[in-house]
Amino acid sequence: MLDSFGRKISYLRLSVTELCNLRCRYCMPEDGVCKKSHELMLTEEETLSAVEAAVSLGISKLRVTGGEPLVKPNILSLCRRAAAVEGLKELCLTTNGTLLPSLARPLKGAGVRRINISLDTLDKDKYAYITRQGELSRALEGLRSALDAGFEKIKINTVLIGGFNDDEIAALARLTLEYPLDLRFIELMPMRENSEFGEAAFIPNSRVLAALPALEEQPRDGGVARLYRLPGALGCVGLIHPISAHFCAECNRIRLTADGYIKPCLHSTAEYPIKGLDFAGMKARFERAILAKPEWHGELSAASASRAGREMNQIGG
Ligand code: SAM
Ligand code: SF4
Repeated sequence: MLDSFGRKISYLRLSVTELCNLRCRYCMPEDGVCKKSHELMLTEEETLSAVEAAVSLGISKLRVTGGEPLVKPNILSLCRRAAAVEGLKELCLTTNGTLLPSLARPLKGAGVRRINISLDTLDKDKYAYITRQGELSRALEGLRSALDAGFEKIKINTVLIGGFNDDEIAALARLTLEYPLDLRFIELMPMRENSEFGEAAFIPNSRVLAALPALEEQPRDGGVARLYRLPGALGCVGLIHPISAHFCAECNRIRLTADGYIKPCLHSTAEYPIKGLDFAGMKARFERAILAKPEWHGELSAASASRAGREMNQIGG
């Protein structure tokens, strides 16, 4: 379906939980989030109805996210059922990777074709710091399990943070020389929770180009990242610039939160509830939300935080 600015909306990011086994400093409060009562969250049946309603309006790509989707007890059943929705072409999932050692193969079996793994550093102390409670070895083990499971595509998402991991740009990019994966640097977005990051943390990812002069530009693959490759690499280095060069004009996505709100734009407070609606009601709500998608996300900078009204773990990135 087209939105009111002529953009074809074909991609739904589905957050299946707000909970997470990590507490990344740019995403989530230190104490975690108050677990909401079950009645407030979408049931598996409602989630599937919502996916069907969205697909009936032209959604062809679904990304399961969170919070951490792999802490959700029914994640395999959700993925298997979503993958079977007629008309859905691509089921992808974004995870911090720590639970992939036992879940990579079952997820592949359930129909997940592509997987994104978040990894901001290769230093175990820095990993423990940024995630507040994570162990790097678990995330790396998860990455190895994903590589062994044979997904169609594996991407690493790295949030680039000035003074934290800008000294690791080359080391992280070198993963694309060793493994068949893409590594994307994402600019830090100013959410309410990350007010602890000063202005110096918000750096444009043009820094990556300066740090890696050997990068060669590649054709885009339909996603939002600008793509480059190190000579001889097995995968690409991608740059995602939500801040320094926003991609709103080509945005094809909408989001659905775990408590049942459609968000037409990540950085807007506008939300459309679907909990309790039947298929027809959900479809009508998706239509309204798509037509209300704003033209752009408004000013975003260290001094001008997102107006998302939720933390990233409650939206799904
Ligand atoms: N837990 C999963 C994970 O970490 O991949 C999925 C949910 S997480 C909210 C989705 C993505 O959002 C992750 O790649 C994470 O790095 C990114 N993210 C979270 N907060 C962010 C922020 N303030 N700026 C940029 N990216 C952010
Ligand atoms: Fe959890 Fe992902 Fe947020 Fe980190 S970025 S706290 S892993 S939801």
